[in-house]
Amino acid sequence: MNAPRHHVVVGSGVAGNQAAETLRSRDPESRVTMITVSKLPFFNRYDLPRVFRGERDWRKFIIYPAEYYLDNRISLRRATQVVSVDSARRTLFLAHNETLHFDTLLVASGASPYMPAELVEYRPQMHGFGSFRDAIAAADALPKDGHVILLGGDTIGLDLGRTLLDIGCRVTVVIEKHTFWPHEVSADERPRYIQALTDMGFEVVDAAARGQIAAVRAGEPGLAARRVLFRDGSEIHGDIVMPFFGVAPALDFMLGSGVDIERGLLVQPNLRTTNDAIYAAGDVCQIWSDADKRYRFYYGWKNVRAMGELAAHNVTGADEPWVPTQDEGLQLTADGRIHSPFWEYA
Ligand SMILES: Cc1cc2nc3c(=O)[nH]c(=O)nc-3n(C[C@H](O)[C@H](O)[C@H](O)COP(=O)(O)OP(=O)(O)OC[C@H]3O[C@@H](n4cnc5c(N)ncnc54)[C@H](O)[C@@H]3O)c2cc1C
Repeated sequence: MNAPRHHVVVGSGVAGNQAAETLRSRDPESRVTMITVSKLPFFNRYDLPRVFRGERDWRKFIIYPAEYYLDNRISLRRATQVVSVDSARRTLFLAHNETLHFDTLLVASGASPYMPAELVEYRPQMHGFGSFRDAIAAADALPKDGHVILLGGDTIGLDLGRTLLDIGCRVTVVIEKHTFWPHEVSADERPRYIQALTDMGFEVVDAAARGQIAAVRAGEPGLAARRVLFRDGSEIHGDIVMPFFGVAPALDFMLGSGVDIERGLLVQPNLRTTNDAIYAAGDVCQIWSDADKRYRFYYGWKNVRAMGELAAHNVTGADEPWVPTQDEGLQLTADGRIHSPFWEYA
């Protein structure tokens, strides 16, 4: 009798969970293992702005309880980091020196907040928003009705900014090339969208007009806790500074695996990498687009979930191509506000 196939999914975000669910239903006899470096099980990061409204109980953000994984025979391994992959030997290496054999590997390791190289040294002066712990730390550092400076202002940051304005904070957006990421806004349209930010209540500071951001430092005694300095010598002060420069795929562990990488893991429209046993889904992969004649990223939770489902279908015998499921255009509402389709989640 053949041993059941072992499907391993790296990542327990939207893509990884949808993939594991689909693998379980399409291959009932298989072993399904899901590995995540996160200590928390699958949680709703789209809802993280609620932390700033006072919601501090991590259990309120959890999407599936522990029993879900038991009932579905998905072996969930939390706080477990994959450090490398040998695709020829179909082996994963874990940080605690364990190795794990797979028959198929589905990489759904997502992406991490991107920081421009010239600002990396100022990271300790900034508050992140990539995890539940980050959100709690930022909210704890923010006084009531305080002043938040958002650097960049991608759509994740602007979504948080809407909540911050709503709870009475002062919010400054330092606009630069990542503002509105991942939406593509043409040079012609950009002034209208920036005006919309002002109309929504954001204060806007143009980094280019001040020669770009030079540094982020602690504030002087008696003044606000943080200073953002610009190359023209000007500066602005706030209580916390949060970077929102888009994301970069989390794939260090795939370097040297034998799978092709550009900025993300390169996959064909069926989400298969250059190795027959390895597929990828979600923020970590760049999918070949025949229309654009290039590999490209697709964002938004509906797209990410659809990728997880498609990759699992194709791992289990199908061979269907990726079709985007989500509108990617940034919109202006009738009352002049910005609306991103990525802000619509169920
Ligand atoms: C705070 C925040 C708010 C957001 N808000 C929105 C929003 O409102 N709308 C929207 O459309 N998008 C939003 N996004 C983006 C959205 O979260 C992503 O597009 C989506 O979560 C990507 O899903 P994913 O499954 O590809 O990866 P992720 O959800 O990032 O999951 C990646 C998983 O891989 C694991 N992992 C990574 N490396 C390793 C490793 N080496 N070993 C083991 N495990 C590993 C991680 O622990 C994690 O479980 C937001 C992102 C953040 C950070």
